[in-house]
Amino acid sequence: MAPHDPAPRYDVVVAGARVAGASTALLLARGGLHVLVVDPVAHGRDTLSTHALMRGGVLQLAHWGVLDAVKAAGTPRIGRTTFHYGPRVVPVEIEPDGDIDGLYAPRRTVLDAILADAAADVGAELRYGWAFEDVRRTPNGHVTHVVVRDEEGVRRSIRTDLVVGADGMRSRVARRVGARATRTTTHATASVYAHLPGMPEDGYHWCFEDGLAAGSIPTNDAEACVFVSLPAARFHAVRGRNLQEVFLDVLRRTAPELFERARGAGGLERLRAFPGAPGFLREAAGPGWALVGDAGYFKDPLTAHGMTDALRDAELLARAVLAGRRGPEIFDDALLAYPRLRDVLSEGVFEVTDRIASFAWSLEEVAKLHRVLSREMKAEVEWLRRSRDGMRFAA
Ligand SMILES: Cc1cc2nc3c(=O)[nH]c(=O)nc-3n(C[C@H](O)[C@H](O)[C@H](O)COP(=O)(O)OP(=O)(O)OC[C@H]3O[C@@H](n4cnc5c(N)ncnc54)[C@H](O)[C@@H]3O)c2cc1C
Repeated sequence: MAPHDPAPRYDVVVAGARVAGASTALLLARGGLHVLVVDPVAHGRDTLSTHALMRGGVLQLAHWGVLDAVKAAGTPRIGRTTFHYGPRVVPVEIEPDGDIDGLYAPRRTVLDAILADAAADVGAELRYGWAFEDVRRTPNGHVTHVVVRDEEGVRRSIRTDLVVGADGMRSRVARRVGARATRTTTHATASVYAHLPGMPEDGYHWCFEDGLAAGSIPTNDAEACVFVSLPAARFHAVRGRNLQEVFLDVLRRTAPELFERARGAGGLERLRAFPGAPGFLREAAGPGWALVGDAGYFKDPLTAHGMTDALRDAELLARAVLAGRRGPEIFDDALLAYPRLRDVLSEGVFEVTDRIASFAWSLEEVAKLHRVLSREMKAEVEWLRRSRDGMRFAA
């Protein structure tokens, strides 16, 4: 008989309580699993992100019954995306389509909190101030326990069938389970952004000039997230300069109208910078572990698709786990459906994002790349709709 193990037990332990982790916990808890989520950062805290959701992301939130809370938090509906290629302006209307009445760009303080609260409402246990530290495994490599550090610094061992790394691009879970990168990219763009009042309210604006990009994303509290993007190497070269100067200089050259509004707006002292990082796909699952969101799949922010994919992958993983659960155990063979599907569905956006992030294009070429991106996103939405196939994740 196995010796008594005094460690508390959860079916699933999720590291990270934002779009990927909170969504995974929500769906698994709705599916009847006993889920613990740990995150060292407090509930509702902001993070580095410009937070524009694409159709697939909005569709997921609608399917799960949480889009109404996003709207109720005062997140404005986006009815148009306007691309600016130098002087050429290409408006794209976001026609209501079934469950998608428009696009939304909730602040991360809003979206992450809504998803975490929804997970807690269906019984997931969320512990803030707790951090994932390590895994323990059987001799043949199957995860049996996770080690977490609580808010008082005490190390605790927890028994589980599955640890989910939703702990972002620098995932500690990925390192501890030895998840390898299966694809990597070489290009990376830096972003500098701030939330400003008095910006255009008529939708997303994405502006492109040779070697530069900028844009505006309306969000909560009558503000817009205004960003500039440039190749990481170019940002590195000007890094010693005042951040406001860099931001306003790129904005002036790329989006003169946004520049005029931004330079008079309050809020520039709150500028934040992301220096850029190459994209990767990591192995998404193994014996007793899985990765979702940026932990398993990171791509350049220039196509604003990270959260949309994080929401999708939370559902792909939840489907695989719930389909593979027979009795009290989660079976690895079913879990393996998840990485295959994630990789197939990610390929197109991953590749076109890297080409856009290369900045090695003319304005005509980047417009073509956006059409490829748009086709990929439409295909993803169609797949999400078709594949629901009786899976019930709604509240
Ligand atoms: C500048 C920038 C702009 C972006 N703009 C957009 C955009 O417009 N649209 C879009 O869709 N995407 C955008 N993205 C990408 C998007 O932010 C990410 O894809 C998204 O945040 C991924 O969510 P996640 O839940 O996987 O990880 P994260 O949001 O990174 O959350 C990871 C969580 O894990 C926690 N964690 C870390 N270590 C541990 C540990 N040891 N134990 C437990 N928890 C831990 C962290 O505290 C954090 O709360 C942008 C990214 C950047 C950098």
